[in-house]
Amino acid sequence: MTGAFLRIYQNYQALLNENQRDRLTGLLNRRTFDDQISQIMEAQRTNNAAPKDGFSHFMAILDIDHFKSINDTFGHLYGDEVLLLFARIMKQTFRNGDLLYRFGGEEFVVLLKAMDAASCLHTLNRFRKNIEKYAFPQVGRVTVSGGCVIITGDGLQTTLLDCADQALYYAKKNGRN
Ligand code: GH3
Ligand code: MG
Ligand code: MG
Repeated sequence: MTGAFLRIYQNYQALLNENQRDRLTGLLNRRTFDDQISQIMEAQRTNNAAPKDGFSHFMAILDIDHFKSINDTFGHLYGDEVLLLFARIMKQTFRNGDLLYRFGGEEFVVLLKAMDAASCLHTLNRFRKNIEKYAFPQVGRVTVSGGCVIITGDGLQTTLLDCADQALYYAKKNGRN
């Protein structure tokens, strides 16, 4: 009886977990992002003092450069392999407490804590370089562009995304990588 109950519970947990994650990469999915960013912003609104540990939350959008041409040149399967390896390098580069999402297609999001913008940028640059120096099987070199914003309780979730998107757009227009 207990065994059966435990199994049902474990299946339920696994299902919950599966619904929160992207199938291909195992990263958290967009729906989970929507939930978690709301929670973070709500927490910041309710205890309007600065975070006790002195850290701030940042959100970065990461978008693979010229991904369409990777698909076109090597095929969709190699494209998928790049997404998989990209996600693995994300897991290796960012800290355990950072939240990693596949937002859709070849777009990824990181929610990370940092002391200030400079140290956030330092972390993101380290990731950018890790991608730049990685030899993707068959495909070779791949680069990534990103846009980053600081998260504050005021304002809207969509505004936050728009700002990060504008920064990303700027990077795309100014040489990528
Ligand atoms: P940019 O440097 O401006 O970001 O150019 P890009 O080619 O990366 O951007 P674009 O948005 O034009 O292309 C994204 C491509 O990603 C188009 C789509 O076919 C491909 N894609 C989206 N989802 C998947 C997926 O799950 N697997 C594969 N292999 N390709 C995907
Ligand atoms: Mg792209
Ligand atoms: Mg894109």
